[in-house]
Amino acid sequence: MIHASLKDLSAALAAKKVSAVELATLFLDRIEKLNPTLNAFVSVDRDKTLAMARDADARRAAGETGPLLGVPLAHKDIFCAEGWLTTCGSRMLSNFVSPYDATVVRNFKQAGAVTLGKCNMDEFAMGSSNETSFYGAVKNPWDTARVPGGSSGGSAAAVAARLAPAATGTDTGGSIRQPAALCGFTGLKPTYGVVSRYGMIAFASSLDQGGPMARSAEDCALMLNAMAGFDERDSTSLERPVEDYARDLDQPLAGLRIGLPKEFFGAGMDEDVRAAVEAALAEYRKLGATTVEVSLPNSGLSVPAYYVIAPAEASSNLSRFDGVRYGHRAAEYGDLNDMYSKSRAQGFGDEVKRRILVGTYVLSHGYYDAYYLQAQKVRRLIADDFAAAFKDCDVIMGPTSPSTAFRLGEKAADPVQMYLSDIYTIAVNLAGLPGMSVPCGFDRQGLPVGLQIVGGWFAEAKMLNVAHQYQRATDWHLRRPALAE
Ligand code: GLN
Repeated sequence: MIHASLKDLSAALAAKKVSAVELATLFLDRIEKLNPTLNAFVSVDRDKTLAMARDADARRAAGETGPLLGVPLAHKDIFCAEGWLTTCGSRMLSNFVSPYDATVVRNFKQAGAVTLGKCNMDEFAMGSSNETSFYGAVKNPWDTARVPGGSSGGSAAAVAARLAPAATGTDTGGSIRQPAALCGFTGLKPTYGVVSRYGMIAFASSLDQGGPMARSAEDCALMLNAMAGFDERDSTSLERPVEDYARDLDQPLAGLRIGLPKEFFGAGMDEDVRAAVEAALAEYRKLGATTVEVSLPNSGLSVPAYYVIAPAEASSNLSRFDGVRYGHRAAEYGDLNDMYSKSRAQGFGDEVKRRILVGTYVLSHGYYDAYYLQAQKVRRLIADDFAAAFKDCDVIMGPTSPSTAFRLGEKAADPVQMYLSDIYTIAVNLAGLPGMSVPCGFDRQGLPVGLQIVGGWFAEAKMLNVAHQYQRATDWHLRRPALAE
């Protein structure tokens, strides 16, 4: 059962082969056993989880059905969940018990899913290694001396080691896809506006997007069906007809045109990553796809533009954490300003402070035009590049991350090296496009490699189809770390 897909768990529940309480207990026991090694969860609350499971069983006994009724899953600790500690990986929120549910959490509750706990993450989702968390680094289940990627590193380690069959994540510059690649499972960042950001603690509001992290594309489709949808409480939520994201999974790929951006296959990528991605492309050709070179000429500007725009938005979003309404407040202080400054100095870690400083600087009078406005113009150019490329192809493919999982501490002292881990993912967020990472092999040390699939706006169903057909032909997504046996 621990290794079953979400789809199989759903079928077992429907056939009454297992109850929601039995499943929740199975995963809670596993969390108890493996979390001390991995540090994937910040909070686990057995009583709350079992109460939800009992409720799901009662709903089924009363005749209710539904694909997620009784299915256990974990939430990144950026999603507010009523009655749960919601820390966002920060000391600032170490005492914050949310009084309400994020829309994503509420959607899963309505579908009858059972919350296994809240997953560790980089502080306020800033990072690519899960080393900036106030709650300590998360370990990669494939090699516990290595990072799981970030910022959704707790969700990633939980899914890879099967502490949870699936988890939610958020992706501002790569935080679903990069950890999915480094931990060897499937993750999808939807088109901006498809999943509500209400109750998802804001980092960079014009980039943040929640999405599913699960073993397979099929399981991601199942989750996205519950996550997506218009929400009047999020002003950037898109009003679109409800979709079944699983509808095209079984479509054959004959005739599919795959665009390969020449900028994504240049220098800077590990040779083992390159080999695994090339092998995946060969597999796609066998499935009937053709490949065509495309160009994203401004993609080299995506990391610099992102590191102006994201800190600018973060500096504004994080101004609400002032020690007054909720969150950490310094125990001793003089006047009001001293209370603000001591509370923030104590509550935030170094990376968050760095971003607030950069963001405040680029938004300040006299620098706004030179940095922020300029970055917004670059952002438009990047989106236009993608639109032009999609004239020649249906999906774009390349590596998700330039390397496999790096060692804990290896990049922690060098922010720029860390920022470059997202060199292939960030442009997708700047353009608001959907992106996925799918396991496509291993390096010579046995660490997983991810293939990135990028679709046009609202092409999620197509991308899931493209990923699912590959997963029917290969078994990379079924491999698991020794620790997870
Ligand atoms: N690693 C990137 C950053 O540090 C992206 C993080 C994310 O997607 N939340 O900002």
